[in-house]
Amino acid sequence: MKIGLRVDVDTFRGTKHGVPALCKLFEKHNFQATFYFSVGPDNMGRHLWRLLRPTFFWKMLRTNAAGLYGPEIVLMGTAWPGLQIGKRLGHVIKACDEAGHEIGLHAWDHHREQAKINKMTPEDIYLELHKGFDKLAGICNKPPVSSAVPGWRCSNPLLLEKAKFPFRYNSDCRGTSIFRPVVDGQALEQIQVPVTMPTYDEVLGRNGVTDDNYNEYMLQQLKPGQLNVLTIHAEAEGGKCLKMFDDFIVKAKERGWQFVPLGELAAENPDPPKGKIVQEPFPGREGWLGQQAGL
Ligand SMILES: [Zn+2]
Repeated sequence: MKIGLRVDVDTFRGTKHGVPALCKLFEKHNFQATFYFSVGPDNMGRHLWRLLRPTFFWKMLRTNAAGLYGPEIVLMGTAWPGLQIGKRLGHVIKACDEAGHEIGLHAWDHHREQAKINKMTPEDIYLELHKGFDKLAGICNKPPVSSAVPGWRCSNPLLLEKAKFPFRYNSDCRGTSIFRPVVDGQALEQIQVPVTMPTYDEVLGRNGVTDDNYNEYMLQQLKPGQLNVLTIHAEAEGGKCLKMFDDFIVKAKERGWQFVPLGELAAENPDPPKGKIVQEPFPGREGWLGQQAGL
């Protein structure tokens, strides 16, 4: 029984602190995962800033958002241009690659893509992908094998632009099984490995889930005999939730689960059924997410 494990890395801080912490944890447990890196400017602070009035600024520093992402994220990308993650922290990404983990592209500018994907032209999308692809390929001396759009904000134009890059597979949506996306009647070569399980921030505080019973809740979400793909965040499980995630790994292994990179699951299913991605609301998330649907 396998759990495809995917680590999303959204910020400078998550790359600097969360990635090395998770690499160490995975080494202790002797497995590899897939890391999706953001390699351009860290403008994630803009996102949080937008939601807040300045009077709430100091209060915010003591809240969960600042606890997860660190106080500097609030300022990042607001008072000054966002720090260039790939330029400053390429050595962290390279070390992750050298530890045998699968390296994928999350974004050039995570915030921009998450907020604007439906407003970007195909040329804009291509340029954004191109900048991220080149940066990541330059750091690792080889092209990233996969990509995962920020915030599961997947669209058909995005899939068509991705098809111009040599990704072996992508992970751009929520769903239940590996599938081959069809856009405008054309079946794409790059198959999709959807995320099947909820994320920490989607689940916590809903339906009575707390840090105390979170792992038990997540273990119940695992489905033997089906596709199981879990996303964790370098900013959460690589920081504040590290010990809790260590405990999840131990408990999952005790129940017979092993953790693998998503590429291993993709390779086991090279010719999956066709499907499509639709934009629909999702429990615990603001706005819409790309979700797997039948043709
Ligand atoms: Zn992300």
